[in-house]
Amino acid sequence: MIIGIDDTDSVDGMCTTYLTAILIDKLKGLGDIRGLPHLIRLNPNIKYKTRGNAALAVEIDTYPDSEEQIVNTAISLVEDMADMDCENTNPGIVFLIDQGRNDPGFRQDLESFMWQAMRDVLAVEDARSLIGKYGIKHKEFKNGRGLIGALAACGSVLCGLSDHTYELIAYRQPGNFGTPREIDRESVFRADRETYPGTWDTVDISNNTIVFAPHSPDPILFGIRGDDVQSIEKAFGIIGSEPAGLTLLYRTNQGTDFHLLDAQICDVLEERSYKLTGTVVDRPVTIRGGHMFFTLKGSGSIRCAAFEPTKGFRNIIKELIPGDKVGVYGGIADGTLNVEKIEILELAAYEKTSNPVCPTCGKRMKSAGSKQGFRCKGCNTKSGEVVRTTMGRGITPGIYEVPPCARRHISKPLVRSAEPDVYPSR
Ligand SMILES: [Zn+2]
Repeated sequence: MIIGIDDTDSVDGMCTTYLTAILIDKLKGLGDIRGLPHLIRLNPNIKYKTRGNAALAVEIDTYPDSEEQIVNTAISLVEDMADMDCENTNPGIVFLIDQGRNDPGFRQDLESFMWQAMRDVLAVEDARSLIGKYGIKHKEFKNGRGLIGALAACGSVLCGLSDHTYELIAYRQPGNFGTPREIDRESVFRADRETYPGTWDTVDISNNTIVFAPHSPDPILFGIRGDDVQSIEKAFGIIGSEPAGLTLLYRTNQGTDFHLLDAQICDVLEERSYKLTGTVVDRPVTIRGGHMFFTLKGSGSIRCAAFEPTKGFRNIIKELIPGDKVGVYGGIADGTLNVEKIEILELAAYEKTSNPVCPTCGKRMKSAGSKQGFRCKGCNTKSGEVVRTTMGRGITPGIYEVPPCARRHISKPLVRSAEPDVYPSR
């Protein structure tokens, strides 16, 4: 059986990953958990979403006659723990019992639904229609929007993903919920130094801050993300903190860029994320608050933004000039692409023109009038061509990313794409 759960969390403290960790604990005795639980980040650009837009799924080999008990355990746990008073919390639970094993049509439908949940905008009706078509056991609360993520997370378990990473989440002991987290900052930087790039996005070196622990009142103490389970466990051993309660390792789609669609600029839609290619039209401008904007032209044109929270990333953006050919990655909101990564493909030549120097007396010549060349005021020497100087550019072709403190969970850090000898410098 595969159990998918989504949308039980709220800004006030509950978190679907924690609920899943508790559920796994409660299911001992009713079946054997198979593999790791899956933590799936859905389309990060959706307007109606819970904080991180994470959905969870867990696979369990049931014991004889334990199915009903498992279903009831999961439902009553969600009833008990989900923050039902929060307007934005609309839990959904899905149980794949017989579906999928021998039905390629179902697997195909579920897989395509999962990709839509990561990249597109789905309605609860889309989830209900899939549930109805295959008679899937489920339970929904309030408007039932959680059914979307619950199905998508089941899809990840049943159909697999072409790329994945891991996150070890350490939860707080319940007595500490809501109090400031005690984490030994220096040990976190040390853990990063000793395990990067097997782990990543634990700290943000350029902004001198740790980024692997939330500031909200939720049950998470911290989460260590990475590609390599051994490195993650090593980092966990190095980090000093208040005593953790439950800890659980998840298989995730974090750091995969699965949210990105390829498209032409003229075809982009709100609430989706894209990789777009085009030519820079104007010099980036900075508005109050430090947000930076420029226009990209291809098949149509689009405004691109590097907002203040992207910090030093704006130092790359501000060097762009008209004519630069770039690829931008990011989500669309209000007609603007919020840049997560930029690939500088080709830099435009940047020339400065100046008046020639007089060959006789070495003084800078003045213009002799429109199309009249130049004249030296000192000795009256005429002529001379305008001098063109190719200026150096403050950037070089390559791919650049926002710092870890500004990165979305699902966005792929460059360190994951690079060969070991060309890891981006930090
Ligand atoms: Zn002269």
